Amino acid sequence: MKDCIFCNIVAGEIPARKRYEDDEIVIFEDIEPKAKIHLLCVPKEHYAYLSEADEICAASLGRTLKKIAALAPSLGLGDGYRLVVNQGENAGQTVKHLHIHIMGGEVLPF
Ligand code: 5GP
Ligand code: ZN
Repeated sequence: MKDCIFCNIVAGEIPARKRYEDDEIVIFEDIEPKAKIHLLCVPKEHYAYLSEADEICAASLGRTLKKIAALAPSLGLGDGYRLVVNQGENAGQTVKHLHIHIMGGEVLPF
């Protein structure tokens, strides 16, 4: 998707501080961190909303959660972290490419 910020980050056309990459996901630092560590995990394949996930995306998301758990210590998140997916307008989703917020590195205030 040409006009999608996260597709452009995946493609390396917009710079980002990438912390992990494999054949199906990229994890990079959020540009406006809301916690001491605030990362975004995005599927390489573009889809806008969690509500669009089909069986294949759902299987990929399952593997992604397992990867995040396995990677957590090396990302500085060994003491715990929070995963958030904003879905749609009421949740304030601003980027229409599915992403999982990964927040931690401190005791989270809420
Ligand atoms: P949302 O509100 O859609 O769930 O979250 C979008 C997130 O993407 C926000 O936390 C925002 O700071 C982050 N973000 C938006 N544009 C960029 C960008 O160009 N680079 C990076 N690294 N993060 C971005
Ligand atoms: Zn995209």
